[in-house]
Amino acid sequence: MMENLNRLAIHTITTKPWPIEEAIERYASAGVKGISVWRDALDGRNVKKIGEKIRSSGLSIVATVRGGFFPALSETERQARIEDNKAFIQLSAELGSPLLVIVPGAHPGQSLEESRRQIRKGMEAILKEAETVGLRLAIEPLHPMYADTRSAIVTLEQANDLCRELEHPLLGIAVDVYHVWWDPNLPRELKRAGERNKIFAFHVCDWKSPTTDFLNDRGLMGEGCIDIPGIRRDVEKNGFLGFIEVEIFSTRYWSMDQQEYLEKITEAYRQHV
Ligand code: ZN
Repeated sequence: MMENLNRLAIHTITTKPWPIEEAIERYASAGVKGISVWRDALDGRNVKKIGEKIRSSGLSIVATVRGGFFPALSETERQARIEDNKAFIQLSAELGSPLLVIVPGAHPGQSLEESRRQIRKGMEAILKEAETVGLRLAIEPLHPMYADTRSAIVTLEQANDLCRELEHPLLGIAVDVYHVWWDPNLPRELKRAGERNKIFAFHVCDWKSPTTDFLNDRGLMGEGCIDIPGIRRDVEKNGFLGFIEVEIFSTRYWSMDQQEYLEKITEAYRQHV
């Protein structure tokens, strides 16, 4: 059966060559229903006006992306990052976003354990700021290949553990198939997250085999080896019925005509999600 587009959202980074104004218009015309806004897409813009433009085009703002990156070698730098996250929380509220995605961060000059300790501290600090505007925060565990610089949290289990330790109603998890598809404990951990309604977001793309670049060679759904419909079923079985967000970093796709690419995205969503 062909899937309709009612739950399809796209991250602005997916169509990076388009300024956000154009992305909003093109997504809406294509029948996409939601947009997740990367911070760089807001540079130099009146954020309130962009929020209004999104809503008046009929799109829902699904999330702002991305906060986090807490670990750093010096206390001064760590504090600066916390302040930067607080600023992004206020910006997200101004835009009218209900959710901020958090990429936890890591620093290769210290142990992963120390980075995780700094992540916990950073999260505690910014949860207080999130409370002031009622913004939800979703921690995104990343694939272990990014443990050096991007995330000391590399499994859904670790993200679940952190949510339990911090125990806050505004804190949950972003499940991205690219980062978790390989994990033998995925069903168990999705169940664990679902039991407490902690699945806040669901991101899709595909793992190309072979892949030529571990950051910017992500595939369209159906192009790789991830069982996206299977993971989707599991996520939904555990209570998540929100937007399905297409988030693809791809030098190859960024270099093609973005309207043609958008058509490929909706087609891939219909057939392979
Ligand atoms: Zn993601």
